[in-house]
Amino acid sequence: MVVNRICGMCQGGCQVNVTVEDGKITKVEPDKTSPKGRLCIRGALTPELLYSEDRLTYPLIRDGKRGEGKFRRASWEEAYEYAAELIKKTMGKYGARAMASYLGRGVLGMPVGRILSNNQKPCLMKRLGSPNDFNAASICNMASSMVTPVTTSGLNTRMMVQDIPNSDYIFSWGKNPTTDDGPQMLIKSIKAAKERGAKLVVIDPRKNGIGELADLWVPVIPGADGALALAMLKLIVDGERYDKEFVRDYTRGFEEFKTYLETLSMEQLSEWCGVSEEMITQLTEIFCSTEKISLVAYTGLEYQLSAIQNNRAIFTLWAITGKLDVEGGIYLNCRNVPTFSPKELPTENKPIGLDEFPLFYKFIGGGQFCRFPRAVLEDDPYPVRGLILVGGSPVLTFPDSKMWRKVYEKLECFIVSDRYPTEDSRYADVVFPACTVFETYKPVMGADGKIALIEPAIEPVGESRDDVLILAGIAKKLGVGDDYPGSVEDLKEWLCQMIPPYAGDFATGGKQSPRIYQKYKSGELRADGQPGFPTPSGKFEICSVLLEENGFTPYPEYKDIRSIPELNRPEFPFTMTTGARSMHRMGVFGANLPGVAKAEPYPYMDLNPEDAKELGIGDGDWAQVTTPFGTGTFKTRVCGMARHCIHIPHGGGSAYMPEAWRVGNVNELTSLDYNDPITGFVTMKSVPCRVEKAEITMESET
Ligand code: SF4
Repeated sequence: MVVNRICGMCQGGCQVNVTVEDGKITKVEPDKTSPKGRLCIRGALTPELLYSEDRLTYPLIRDGKRGEGKFRRASWEEAYEYAAELIKKTMGKYGARAMASYLGRGVLGMPVGRILSNNQKPCLMKRLGSPNDFNAASICNMASSMVTPVTTSGLNTRMMVQDIPNSDYIFSWGKNPTTDDGPQMLIKSIKAAKERGAKLVVIDPRKNGIGELADLWVPVIPGADGALALAMLKLIVDGERYDKEFVRDYTRGFEEFKTYLETLSMEQLSEWCGVSEEMITQLTEIFCSTEKISLVAYTGLEYQLSAIQNNRAIFTLWAITGKLDVEGGIYLNCRNVPTFSPKELPTENKPIGLDEFPLFYKFIGGGQFCRFPRAVLEDDPYPVRGLILVGGSPVLTFPDSKMWRKVYEKLECFIVSDRYPTEDSRYADVVFPACTVFETYKPVMGADGKIALIEPAIEPVGESRDDVLILAGIAKKLGVGDDYPGSVEDLKEWLCQMIPPYAGDFATGGKQSPRIYQKYKSGELRADGQPGFPTPSGKFEICSVLLEENGFTPYPEYKDIRSIPELNRPEFPFTMTTGARSMHRMGVFGANLPGVAKAEPYPYMDLNPEDAKELGIGDGDWAQVTTPFGTGTFKTRVCGMARHCIHIPHGGGSAYMPEAWRVGNVNELTSLDYNDPITGFVTMKSVPCRVEKAEITMESET
């Protein structure tokens, strides 16, 4: 039997034909009749992933020390009882706020957010009385997709279309669409644009991937994108090459920002970003040559010391040179947008991280999970001792893996729901086996933009269950889950109350209304019909009202990582960047599976050829990388990199991975303590380091 489904191995939403034989998936192929019919290596490996020996197929209760990874098989009833008892005990001893939950991206598009995420009504933690429900928003996407655009244009990036098909130039800034973990649609549109004559400018420390397609590659020092943007802005403002009418009528804070730019020298900015003044001039000439420039950027710019302000500088570049809401630039695909209303800060029962990052709370209505370790290890701001972890692996995806291991050792209640054992689950009290999207109901977006529910392709593997049912089982034992579903049938009904059954076409594009440009002039952008932007001032805010009111510098101010004395030491002359995505793995998911490990056998350290020569390190040699926070060993790949900069992929460090990935954990080399002050996002994109040749041999190489 062949059934048409959405692939369940990442959130890419590819449309696939799934062959099911004797109740098992034996093959997954792209649906070639659909525009969304695509398949990557993970999708093709679905049978291997689903029926892997590693797959969790029944509940486990810890039968050894935390971290030993020793468990015994348990019945569902026993596991639910035990988990509920631990939660009750922890809340009884330390209060309800001592429990926290974290929802990771490894849930692969499952509907569990409806029970665990803070902006959904039946949120489990809130029912227990704890404000500490976290998700990947603490480390991904919120800074670049929400905080930056809202504090400039009042919009979010979902409302912005990069008009690549009509661009003269595409600026890919801190993003590598050739290695994205999704279905790679962006790179296809960039290649199509290049074929019709558009030019590609890549601003990135790495040349690998998209940089190899670039007409101009600008190797910037990781984390210093803001310095480069300010240098371009300085040339543009000093040379009066900006759109004077736009600046006069539609911006706030231009003069204040201009005064700030006057305090900066081109020499200093060039030194910070590692791009010569000649190249900055060349780049600025290109940038000012046309309005038709689209911006391809994403989270690569948000893990920096002044991440929000760096991003705001880049948005300001586009705005004051007339590239907003024009053909070929950034099209504002929205109308009548209300001004963002910050969430009110609670005065009691505050989540972890709120006191330090209150503005982040005002955006997401929750705390900052990067401060969870302090709450457990130092009782700061209060003791936290319990964690429900669903589809996530903070020990490998957040900086400072060693600290997370200490955190897990100190927890008194640690419950994990996942599809595979993770490094984190080795420390858990109870591990529940969750199923994948192929085995349960999946919300999908139809062509009309509405969400609909698609049926499972197969029964869950082993005893695995939908994460919703797992959490509902625990909630029922705690007396707070009477209205949560108790069976697969209930689950379908429960989801259908929120999401109608799938009954249409999710593949085609849906209707698009005709474009209207420069809506800020006509009043169509703002909900009140007035000209301008939906910001508090009604203008494009170079100086943000929200930042000002919350005690931050209102204009895009740059802070260099090396302005921190303890990081700017002569023994760390290189800068390391990490956190980039892989098209073979999704976060930490996959590296332990043979087919995926074969495609990406090592966590490579990318090194510039001249640096490699000076250091006496050859392609394929093992190298030791040391930062102020730790040391690790990685296989060298000599390739296009900015001078004195290295790149290492994240995702290693689990006992369940092949040796090279097990020891090659870049997050032993990063820190949770240096953050963007507005969001609390960690600065893993720019870590001072040194590189040396390592004389080691892996078991797998003997
Ligand atoms: S990108 Fe790959 S894993 Fe993701 S949905 Fe598409 S085929 Fe599946």
